[in-house]
Amino acid sequence: MLKRSYVEIDLDILRQNYRILKETLHDGQEIMCVVKADAYGHGAVPAAKVYSSEGCRNFAVSNIEEALELRKAGIEGQILILGYTPASFAGELKTHHITQALLSYEHAAAFSGSGIEAQFAIDTGMNRIGLDADDPEECEAIIRKFSKEVHLTGLFTHLCSADTPDNEENTAFTMEQIGKFKAVSERVSDLALPYIHCLNSAGGLFHNCYGNLVRFGIVLYGLKPDISNTLPEGLRPAMTWKSVISMIKPVRKGETIGYGRTFTADHDLMAATIPTGYADGYSRRLSNCGKVLIHGKEAPIIGRICMDQFMADVTDIPEAAFEDEVILLGATYNADDMAEDLGTIGYEVVCDIGKRVRRVYKGEEKR
Ligand SMILES: *Cc1c(COP(=O)(O)O)cnc(C)c1O
Repeated sequence: MLKRSYVEIDLDILRQNYRILKETLHDGQEIMCVVKADAYGHGAVPAAKVYSSEGCRNFAVSNIEEALELRKAGIEGQILILGYTPASFAGELKTHHITQALLSYEHAAAFSGSGIEAQFAIDTGMNRIGLDADDPEECEAIIRKFSKEVHLTGLFTHLCSADTPDNEENTAFTMEQIGKFKAVSERVSDLALPYIHCLNSAGGLFHNCYGNLVRFGIVLYGLKPDISNTLPEGLRPAMTWKSVISMIKPVRKGETIGYGRTFTADHDLMAATIPTGYADGYSRRLSNCGKVLIHGKEAPIIGRICMDQFMADVTDIPEAAFEDEVILLGATYNADDMAEDLGTIGYEVVCDIGKRVRRVYKGEEKR
């Protein structure tokens, strides 16, 4: 295998995370595994196979291409598309038994009479998609109307500030969102819709008080919804991003490194070149501020990240040599840690890892 730049996914960790999260559920609840964006960069099909083998029968994705990828790989059970699909794809949705979110009255009307399986999105304050929960009578009327024109299997909403449980204002808003969603659901309880759900990872961990599905995404992969969170004991990141030292050389005091000459050596040092760059999704914002691990020791990034390579200071790692392994993301510096250095969230770090970076799997898909 080409060991230029690759991501190792530990399927046993994905399985363990799923089992730990299952323990947090209340009676009557099931997990809906959110495997959109290629399972947050971990590989949608291998991840979904692990969860399937653990008994999961509910999956969520963002679009029809992701849904079809899962179906074609033999994933069974419910696959819910959380985002927009044009009604011209109604035939494919039906053929492959895929459930579509209805984003608005107009979107629902476009699917009218198609008989697809669908669930209404309800907007309780995010202002992104869904029927406006501030007008519950109108929501009820629309849900009743379309319950005769599509095969309606549920209602869902999305929480927008559930990830900071220590913040009173955000928590009050979350409770308000759940209350509004509950009010709409209860108005149509006679329709006996099988799936009523409002919880993402943060909602499931910190505010689990309503609904029969919990849509766990980021926590399945062992990362935090917000950096301030404490995850359940045993949850671990499943991903390690590795590269190698492609060259190592001394740089004399006063010389500069890389494009734009943004780094000047203030002493003689040893620089290692690493063949991963922003074209692999290794953020250019790590220039002169990120770090990697070599032989378990930290090597600071020096100079700008190039498209396909970057340099790190290995002066303090004398054993570092040509073709040694370099850990870009791992147990002691994970995507949440890198996100902190970048001023973003772990979600973006893992989703940004490019197609060019091969995913390799260890552990068992089925057990
Ligand atoms: C992405 C997404 C989720 C999962 O969110 P996490 O924070 O990763 O758990 C749940 N529901 C909807 C509607 C989403 O778009």
